[in-house]
Amino acid sequence: MNITRMDLADAGSPERLVLEILKLEPQLPIPVPVEELCLRLDIHQIVPLTTQGYEGGLITTPDKFNGSILFNEASPRERRRFTIAHELGHFLMPSHVPSAEGRFLCKLQDMRELKGGESDRRLKMEVEANRFASQILMPLPKFRVDVAVGNDPDIRQLSAIAKKYDEEAAGRAYVRFREEPVAIVVTQNGKVLRDYRDPLKFLKLSIPSGAMVPAHSLLQRRKHEMGVPSEIDETDAGMWLHGERGRQPAPLYEQVLLQRQGFALNMLSRDAASGDDEEADEEAEMTSAERLKRRLYSDR
Ligand SMILES: [Zn+2]
Repeated sequence: MNITRMDLADAGSPERLVLEILKLEPQLPIPVPVEELCLRLDIHQIVPLTTQGYEGGLITTPDKFNGSILFNEASPRERRRFTIAHELGHFLMPSHVPSAEGRFLCKLQDMRELKGGESDRRLKMEVEANRFASQILMPLPKFRVDVAVGNDPDIRQLSAIAKKYDEEAAGRAYVRFREEPVAIVVTQNGKVLRDYRDPLKFLKLSIPSGAMVPAHSLLQRRKHEMGVPSEIDETDAGMWLHGERGRQPAPLYEQVLLQRQGFALNMLSRDAASGDDEEADEEAEMTSAERLKRRLYSDR
């Protein structure tokens, strides 16, 4: 690697930073060697965090001459990689200013913020750091090719991508860049924790966080073997979505992967071009270049 921080001096957005890095390091391997990249870019050390309750941190000076990145040692490796990239994002973004004590401390929830922050400076920094982390760990030119593989959205494909990129947050990028409308619902012991979907393509789910998954969903109506993705099954769209009653519903497919500690991934998908809400229509009229631009630059 030959990149230096001087090369990035003019980049003021996460997208621009990533573009510049990829331009200067076109041979960047997958999975991206994020720690090596940090060390090239004036991060002097990457060490375990000692403060409880945080997922990551950055210690630096107001002029950001150099920095140290902290990570939660107890987290799985793929999450630590995202954390380190997120902190590198805080370090490289000129508008991200550390606290008076010269540090950033970030919680797990901060690493999941994908939108908002127009009126909340701290939230805006978290969203930007996440955009940086996601885009540097899953460089779009390669990621788009891998996401497009296969006839249907499939948890097996997502797992292969997560493994290839060594990236826990692959699901969030997957729902965005897969052509078909896809939502990933994370559940534990049958309760919805959160969902990932592209709001431009997939309608809001009718099951909020904290509620039980529908009794007739694939998770509940069949037995699942831990660690083995189920078959993809057509399901009643009205279970998961509002406004499906009384109209000819487009088919909705479900697939389940049961994980440890009662966690499960539930992938919901539809056929391509069946997203029929207004925003999806709006996007359908754009050219592919406009769509890409919108995805790259929108604060979602
Ligand atoms: Zn942060």
